[in-house]
Amino acid sequence: MPKQIRDLLRAEVSDGRFRLAEVDPAATPGLKSHKRALKDLPKHQAQLFELQEKLYAEHKRALLLVLQGMDTSGKDGTITHVIGHLNPQGVKITGFKQPTPEEKRHGFLWRIRRNLPPSGDVGIFNRSHYEDVLVVRVHDLAPLSVIERRYDLINRFEKQVASQRIKIVKVCLHISYDEQRNRLMDRLKDPSKRWKFNEHDIDERAYWDDYQSAYSLAITRCSTLYAPWYVVPSNDKTYRNWAVARILMETLQEIDPNYPQPKLNIPRLLKRLRA
Ligand code: AMP
Ligand code: MG
Repeated sequence: MPKQIRDLLRAEVSDGRFRLAEVDPAATPGLKSHKRALKDLPKHQAQLFELQEKLYAEHKRALLLVLQGMDTSGKDGTITHVIGHLNPQGVKITGFKQPTPEEKRHGFLWRIRRNLPPSGDVGIFNRSHYEDVLVVRVHDLAPLSVIERRYDLINRFEKQVASQRIKIVKVCLHISYDEQRNRLMDRLKDPSKRWKFNEHDIDERAYWDDYQSAYSLAITRCSTLYAPWYVVPSNDKTYRNWAVARILMETLQEIDPNYPQPKLNIPRLLKRLRA
């Protein structure tokens, strides 16, 4: 097995163009077996918890996970099953929906900037500024010239964020058209999932190819060294959780946070406590 799952899943823009259609949503790169993933997951969760604890204690740097993907791709499930095992005190989760009237009065990065994680935290974006070059592009919600300028604005913004010691990790959860149908059907059939069903998701399915192109373009233009895109095949939910946990673990290991070691006169303090 290769050392880093990140190397297998990082979106490579080789001939000037990344094509999402070339990634198999049912693949499980780097994983030997389903059993292995089930065995690894609790270990990874424990390792993630410890790394996060150090990040929090150190209080100097932050991690930002940007989660994107089609409806039912598993953004919520990833947050529950991977992020749910972190210490909630150091986690800041933000979901981005259709902009509110107040948000509309500002530039598209305004609401993003306000929700960046503070030092020591792990920030999670459930959708993000990328919606402004995805749904907005697919549905012509802004003039094309405006959308075209946004890719550079995003890159500049992310570079600035990275320079504030916030490590950005962008993950695209990639499912197939058929898998989406199955998941929408599950939502209809299962009374415990019905609340998540939104007929609008069926309308959006008609734009599947346009979304795939918009994703390919966003990943092509906004894959940078300081804010890489990872494409996680997500038809298999166990693989998805395993892979996202690995990506976070590898990234936190690279950040290598440390517990602060304040200079304390331990013998004197112990003596005081014993007195
Ligand atoms: P959900 O993630 O299922 O709660 O749905 C949120 C919805 O808000 C999705 O349909 C997104 O495409 C939409 N959305 C998020 N950001 C924007 C944006 N900037 N402009 C238009 N729609 C957006
Ligand atoms: Mg939805």
